[in-house]
Amino acid sequence: MKYDYLVVGAGLFGATFAYEAAKRGKRVKVIEKRDHIAGNIYTKEVDGIQVHEYGAHIFHTSNKKIWQYVNQFAEFNRYTNSPVANYKGQMFNLPFNMNTFNEMWGTSTPKEALAKINEQRQEMAGKKPQNLEEQAISLIGRDIYEKLIKGYTEKQWGRKATELPAFIIRRLPVRLTYDNNYFNDDYQGIPIGGYTQIVEKMLASDLIDVELNTDFFDYQEEYVSEFPKIVFTGMIDQYFNYKLGELQYRSLHFETEELNEDNHQGNAVVNYTDADTPFTRIIEHKHFEFGKGDKGKTIITREYPADWHRGDEPYYPINNTENNSLYKEYAKLAQKEAPNVIFGGRLGQYRYYNMDQVLNAALIAVNKEFED
Ligand code: FAD
Ligand code: UDP
Repeated sequence: MKYDYLVVGAGLFGATFAYEAAKRGKRVKVIEKRDHIAGNIYTKEVDGIQVHEYGAHIFHTSNKKIWQYVNQFAEFNRYTNSPVANYKGQMFNLPFNMNTFNEMWGTSTPKEALAKINEQRQEMAGKKPQNLEEQAISLIGRDIYEKLIKGYTEKQWGRKATELPAFIIRRLPVRLTYDNNYFNDDYQGIPIGGYTQIVEKMLASDLIDVELNTDFFDYQEEYVSEFPKIVFTGMIDQYFNYKLGELQYRSLHFETEELNEDNHQGNAVVNYTDADTPFTRIIEHKHFEFGKGDKGKTIITREYPADWHRGDEPYYPINNTENNSLYKEYAKLAQKEAPNVIFGGRLGQYRYYNMDQVLNAALIAVNKEFED
């Protein structure tokens, strides 16, 4: 069969591109090095529970078009992410809101909480935050920084908070209301029946063939000469054989346990924010679907951050200034491959993308490719 496209990676970016190309009558071959489709959003049913194999995934967006787009492929429940933080046995609500301030300082009104935050922010008065630590203190003060941010962040990124970019912490809302919703977005939920079905439906066309357990780099030259166009969602630095140097990534290690109890921690996500606990969070999968699953069973996953070395799974790009400028050099090389190769997704574009942003980026690539 003659193909119009080779898509490398059956994650959300690759699958969206393949789906849209097939809709336009194009023939697509998708290769995936793992033994399953769906990339990091892969979920699998165990004991009637949808297990998020690669960590908690909550779909959230303010982009109505993207919300409508993803709803073609699954029905979403009304899950609202409200993680709690465990700091040495003391529990705090997240994100930073009136509940957190009450738990931290005993304040009960927005005026009291704001007075406390302003007092705590004084140490940064008149200074422009230069790194994550300074940004956190100027946003919310030292108490919260020390108990809820420093330990978690340094574990997560394997670096001192003083060596991390400020923008990472700006992802988290700070609110003077009693609202534990982790996100500010208009739409949020978890697909009923899991995420894998989304990618399954995207790849269902007769015009798409999927080959698992196949690594692009085992046959790079053949693929490049055989296929008129390639959509590449793997690591951009690896595509160019690291010739300008290595980009940095953060890896993770997941430890999953099946427990013979109904309810282990009372919440889908509990963050461990002290420096000594080696994992950052424990997720209890059944709470993403309001306790659905077999009676007397629950499944939990501990998430351990890890350094990345060649061959490990690159879960997070580390978007500091150094890496971003190296990425720009790789992006110039990528430009030279255009229009025959399209680089997309978290690894192909080296960006800390959420699912909605990946969908958006894939649809932009589709529009550009098909000029519609
Ligand atoms: P991926 O899902 O990584 O897909 C790329 C695919 O390409 C993979 O299957 C990989 O195996 C394959 N591949 C790579 N190299 C090759 C090769 N050489 N040959 C063949 N195949 C290859 N987003 C949210 O919106 N909400 C969340 O709550 C959320 N939580 C997250 C939690 C964690 C722990 C992580 C790691 C990410 C989270 N995300 C979340 C982000 C989300 O996972 C990504 O936005 C999305 O999965 C990216 O899709 P992608 O297609 O770009 O990449
Ligand atoms: N963070 C923190 N304490 C928490 C949760 C998050 O300090 O309890 C910080 C940490 O630096 C993290 C950043 O906020 O990298 C962004 O958190 P988010 O939950 O968005 O991270 P992700 O979902 O990407 O793992």
